[in-house]
Amino acid sequence: MSSSVHEQARALLAAADLENFDRGQHAWLQAHLAECAACRDYQAAAGSVIRALRTQPFAADSDLVRTTLVRVRARALELRQQRERNRLAGAACSFVGVSAAITIPWSWRCLEWIGAATSAASWLCQVGFAFLWIAPALIVSAVLLARGSHLAHDGEHPWQ
Ligand SMILES: [Zn+2]
Repeated sequence: MSSSVHEQARALLAAADLENFDRGQHAWLQAHLAECAACRDYQAAAGSVIRALRTQPFAADSDLVRTTLVRVRARALELRQQRERNRLAGAACSFVGVSAAITIPWSWRCLEWIGAATSAASWLCQVGFAFLWIAPALIVSAVLLARGSHLAHDGEHPWQ
């Protein structure tokens, strides 16, 4: 028998749930165990180790519980802040898009009219248009920056 046959049998034995094997694998493993003493010994040793591990009680001490709770709460707060930031960013993008779609044609005509009426330099009208064009984005950026720093300040050291 080649060693890969024994390795295959031991891999099947090491699998967590023998009931999930198909019938062919299960029958092959049983036939191999019937004729191979080394793999039977491996099965017995593995079974005794598993039984020994299952009888060991596991209890977390209070420090571990406290540390885990603190980290879980910090992570929950972080996720909540991230959701809030994403919601704000989505609302801001919508606001900028809608305001730009509405105001750009009107501001262009308005500045064109002002330029014709006052015979102001065309570069002045273009600068004014550029300012009106980016003003909503600037306002939203300032709001997001203020809100983001507020969230970051709230989330600082949540365990204290
Ligand atoms: Zn074997």
